[in-house]
Amino acid sequence: MEEMHMSSTLPQTTDDILAADAHLVQSWADLNGLKEPHARTAIVAAKGVMVRDSNGHELIDGIGGLWCVNVGHGRHEIIDAISNQLSTLDFYSTFYTFTHPTAAALARKLAELAPGNLNRVHFSTSGSDANDGAVRILHHYYERLGKPSKKLVLSRHGAYHGSTYLSIAMTTPAYSKGWSKAEGIVHHLKKPHYWREGANMTEAEFTDLLVADMRHEIERLGSENIACFIGEPIMGAGGVIVPPKGYHKRIQALCREYDIKFIADEVVTAFGRLGHFFASKAVFDTQPDIITVAKGVTSGYQPLAATIMTDEIYDVVSGPDGVFTHGMTYAGHPAAAAAGLANIALMEAEQIPERAGVTGKIFENTLRTLEDIDIVGEVRGSHFMMGIEFVRDKASKTLFDTKLNIGMLVARKAQEKGLVARPLGHILILSPPLTLSEEQIAKIGGILRESITEVMNELPKNCR
Ligand code: PMP
Repeated sequence: MEEMHMSSTLPQTTDDILAADAHLVQSWADLNGLKEPHARTAIVAAKGVMVRDSNGHELIDGIGGLWCVNVGHGRHEIIDAISNQLSTLDFYSTFYTFTHPTAAALARKLAELAPGNLNRVHFSTSGSDANDGAVRILHHYYERLGKPSKKLVLSRHGAYHGSTYLSIAMTTPAYSKGWSKAEGIVHHLKKPHYWREGANMTEAEFTDLLVADMRHEIERLGSENIACFIGEPIMGAGGVIVPPKGYHKRIQALCREYDIKFIADEVVTAFGRLGHFFASKAVFDTQPDIITVAKGVTSGYQPLAATIMTDEIYDVVSGPDGVFTHGMTYAGHPAAAAAGLANIALMEAEQIPERAGVTGKIFENTLRTLEDIDIVGEVRGSHFMMGIEFVRDKASKTLFDTKLNIGMLVARKAQEKGLVARPLGHILILSPPLTLSEEQIAKIGGILRESITEVMNELPKNCR
């Protein structure tokens, strides 16, 4: 990694950084736990698949920033595009009658890449607001069609759709304990996790159960009251859950049968993580009415998200006698749109999604070998979107006491050995850049095996 050029006005030493950081309210963290000295890690530089912390340790970025740095860190093609854009046009909005060439070009590119007739792109700045916006747009769509009662949203236990008031309501209820959210709009269907929830059933029987659960919920609520179903093709931050075979198509069929719009939240799964620009059609053979994206669309170099809708939805919301009263100032920001265009150009030139289809499978298979360790219950996911679930007892799938914080213990150990991984209770998440070499994949496999084994051997006897 090249020497970093940190501005001299920035805090330089770890102690100085952490002193300043006492004013920063972290996201999705145990804020009380963060008051402990050195509970936080300051990352000061990054290149390729590596990051450097403020103590000079070089670490493999096993989580790609936050499931987002798909092309790797420090790509000058993207950085230069952002810088050139800012020199030409620093900011103009896409409100009212205005637009600018960079946002227009990115919208056209996304329409070209998105499957089927998903040709209309509304920009925003985060996955949360892209999902929130998708529901607002559908509410407006049904109002304009004279079906104002269609307001409810079907989501699932285990989902993660963001943390605005509505997107946290669509997220699994387990994540909003002690917080309030948009009550009454969202109903959660069963979690499609065969390994944990499908005891004494075949996978096909479990799929039947999930479909029956959805049909029952639709009949109970009344389809005339339901606007949409929202789902991640593979659930991410809820624990990396891959639904059973055939599930996606059957959920889509139910949506069509009952005139319920199907939103695919591809915030994590799009832009190469599963080996394709979009996973909905290419991997799961579905054609959603709306796809939301964020993260990998710019590889995290700039905040940008999009709600991509069909021509049919657009035609209704853009018809006469209405105003599209939705949008955020920075939607389609020139610098973010430039980052998106350069990122996609780079992915195409280097065939990053296609290559991730191959190396991602090697990554997945390498991690799956960890299932022979006593405390590894299930290794799951696909390609560069993986989770490892730890169990106290393999046969009964009994979990460790949550106070033990098993995921954190393994993540800390891995970090000491040079790998950033993300703990999520009893699960460890790996979502690295898609540019990992086979050698780096093998190294990650080795660090994880050592870390998990050492943590297991150090556990107090009464924990196992
Ligand atoms: N949807 C999914 C599937 C996500 O994983 C996330 C973020 N992890 C979001 C939505 C929310 O995106 P953001 O954090 O950009 O608001």
